[in-house]
Amino acid sequence: MGLLDAITQGLSKKKSTLADKDYKCPSCGAKVTLDMERCPSCGVRIKSMFRKKCPKCGELNELDAKKCVKGDYDFEAEIARAKKQVWRCPICGYEMDTLYTKCPVCGTRFM
Ligand SMILES: [Zn+2]
Ligand SMILES: [Zn+2]
Ligand SMILES: [Zn+2]
Repeated sequence: MGLLDAITQGLSKKKSTLADKDYKCPSCGAKVTLDMERCPSCGVRIKSMFRKKCPKCGELNELDAKKCVKGDYDFEAEIARAKKQVWRCPICGYEMDTLYTKCPVCGTRFM
């Protein structure tokens, strides 16, 4: 019995990454995580309180939505863009989103 408890406890600790972050309940201010269905303090539905807004149409989407429900915006593409590598000229510091053979600002050759 005790062993089974330990196993189930260990399993329940392995939760999704969204759950690692603490949020405040928008209704009562209690500490909640996004894997909770409802706020343990006031009972409000948590996932319906936190939404991300589509920058294109303003539609409020589920927090884990990959695309806007209207289909006009791709939230995953936004993340991919943010991760895109930026090259910086070691001489003048100019930032390039593609690697040029020559710095367009100071003319330093990279290869
Ligand atoms: Zn609450
Ligand atoms: Zn949209
Ligand atoms: Zn340069």
